[in-house]
Amino acid sequence: MHFLETPIEYLKGVGPMRAELLKKELHIFTFYDLLYHFPFRYTDRSVIHKVADLNANMPYIQLKGKIVRFEEKGQKRAKRLLAHFQDETGVTQLIWFKGIRWIKRSIKINTEYLVFGKPSAYQNKVNIVHPEMDFFEKQQSVSSSLQSVYHSTEKLSGKGLNSRGIRKLVKALLLQINDKIDETLSDSLLSKLKLPKREEALVNIHFPADTNKLERAQKRLKFEELFFLQFHLLKMKLTRTKKSKGFVLEKVDNHFDNYFKNHLKFELTNAQKKVLKEIRIDVKKGNQMNRLLQGDVGSGKTLVALLSMLMSVDNNFQSCMMVPTEILAQQHFKNISSELKELDIKVAILTGSSKMKERKKLHEKLENGEIDILIGTHALLEDKVVFKNLAFVVIDEQHRFGVAQRAKLWKKNITPPHILVMTATPIPRTLSMTLYGDLDVSIIDELPPGRKEIKTLWRSDSSRLKVNKFMHEQIALGRQIYIVYPLIQESEKLDYKDLMDGYKAISAEFPMPDFQVSVVHGQMKSEDKQYEMKRFVEGITNIMVATTVIEVGVDVPNASVMVIESAERFGLSQLHQLRGRVGRGAEQSYCILLSGQKISNEGRLRLETMSKTNDGFKIAEVDLKLRGPGDMMGTKQSGILNFKIADLLRDGKILEFARKEAIALLKDDENLEKADNINIAAAYMPYAKERMGWSRIS
Ligand code: ADP
Ligand code: MG
Repeated sequence: MHFLETPIEYLKGVGPMRAELLKKELHIFTFYDLLYHFPFRYTDRSVIHKVADLNANMPYIQLKGKIVRFEEKGQKRAKRLLAHFQDETGVTQLIWFKGIRWIKRSIKINTEYLVFGKPSAYQNKVNIVHPEMDFFEKQQSVSSSLQSVYHSTEKLSGKGLNSRGIRKLVKALLLQINDKIDETLSDSLLSKLKLPKREEALVNIHFPADTNKLERAQKRLKFEELFFLQFHLLKMKLTRTKKSKGFVLEKVDNHFDNYFKNHLKFELTNAQKKVLKEIRIDVKKGNQMNRLLQGDVGSGKTLVALLSMLMSVDNNFQSCMMVPTEILAQQHFKNISSELKELDIKVAILTGSSKMKERKKLHEKLENGEIDILIGTHALLEDKVVFKNLAFVVIDEQHRFGVAQRAKLWKKNITPPHILVMTATPIPRTLSMTLYGDLDVSIIDELPPGRKEIKTLWRSDSSRLKVNKFMHEQIALGRQIYIVYPLIQESEKLDYKDLMDGYKAISAEFPMPDFQVSVVHGQMKSEDKQYEMKRFVEGITNIMVATTVIEVGVDVPNASVMVIESAERFGLSQLHQLRGRVGRGAEQSYCILLSGQKISNEGRLRLETMSKTNDGFKIAEVDLKLRGPGDMMGTKQSGILNFKIADLLRDGKILEFARKEAIALLKDDENLEKADNINIAAAYMPYAKERMGWSRIS
């Protein structure tokens, strides 16, 4: 057995009970796991503070002095132990709520200690709760002034494995590692990037000799982590493109050309042209395409999708487009049918509310190839939906679908169809390199010409009268308005009431017959939703009061005002999506964010960001900072973003060069056969094996 794979119970000081706890609480099973349980913080122990200088705003600090007296206060649960701690400048209190007996027994009065902890304030006094206590020894050979601090849990602390206990274990382990830690990077990479060896890095990450050594250790370990991930993603992509046969879509001389020359209503933007070229090259090659198309709201992704599907039709294959909501499916179906009405192409729609009888017919037509383009919701994924020869799949607003759902579409054929996933949620580059590292990425970075910047105003609830007046003016100009209410599952009933109250108030302010107001929400029957949507699209309704069902994709160019109620309750990407519903025509558009007075700091930052910029990528960066990668991408569970040390927010640069080196290595020695890469090969094998279960992420 390899040293690092040694079960943790074999480490001196661990024993069966602690081993169980380490496994349960921190997933530490082996020596490796313990070594890679990195400190989350370091404190400078070369500095000793004075009691007289303490204040509650200080970070973790160190004091030197004596406990002069213990005092127990409170009863039962409220019981606590106070220690009056004194140095030459004054007295402060150390407090324990737990382990009182043990502390009293093991800590000596009138003996010099180093006390380590975070000052806090209680009843106008500064104290330190649950400090770490170390004997102060004059000749204490402090091997390093930077002391590592580890995550622990209550249960572990109860068994002596608080941060200090864990540090002791790590130290015991590091004493045994002499030359037993295999290097995972090649000599040439190490010398080229001036990175320390793995063993040195592991020692310094836990017991840094100095700040410089610590930084080098961190850089090395971050690089290692990102490098192997990038290499893995890129290798999977390479293997896939080599192995997976795809439909060859060579011809574009029939419908594609015809539509392009005779039916296109406007000139494509350069970005749209560029992306179409990328797709065109991909689908001719004979390998399966897996492409992510990123483009801000309103950038014209639908048209790219349509033209791509025509490539498939021209080669006598079927294509389909999957969207997350019924409203969106209806809208795409209507638009695409009307775009193609002069071409001999069969377009059909399938959603959850398609009638049984229609469905049966549709299934038949799909199977015998009578339908060329199918548009639909999740209903497309059902096993009963069988295509004759599906060659091109578009997934719109891909972030709305789960991984498993998306993967299902691959399995509709023996030869996998080309896949184009589209998203309007801009993804910061660091994230997309990681999450979609094995996909090809196209970006539409340009809006169709003539669009005016949407003006975003943030107003408090009390400005409602002014907002109403503004809406009257806009309606008089012939524009249409959305008013959106939050509907969050946890407080659904209350939210629903808000929505209906709002609808009533708006109907009173904009009464019939001069005005038409509709309401659309998720609990309505599909037919009713469609009816209301249709009236809005046709310009019959002036105001649409709705929940976020209209968040994605809906396209009504004449709508120029988006009012968002309780805007502080929405996430940034949602707000950006909602705002993207306006600004689609030639008129000046507005987004009005209404909020209460009491808003959290985060809420404030979100609304400020929205007021400041229309740039989806900038908004995504802020969103990433606020929510963290896993939450933002809805991939908390998937494991891909669980880094031990790398941090996508901060380590963008390291990620860039890790990727660069991974690409270079893949080019030079794809199968890791060269002598120089022997370390990498040995490390990569188990790495890849562990990640075999990862399916494609798109
Ligand atoms: P999204 O990328 O958000 O899906 P859409 O595909 O819905 O955007 O397009 C937004 C609007 O822009 C639509 O009304 C569409 O007809 C229009 N559009 C798309 N491409 C162009 C273009 N090249 N020039 C002008 N308008 C365009
Ligand atoms: Mg769209």
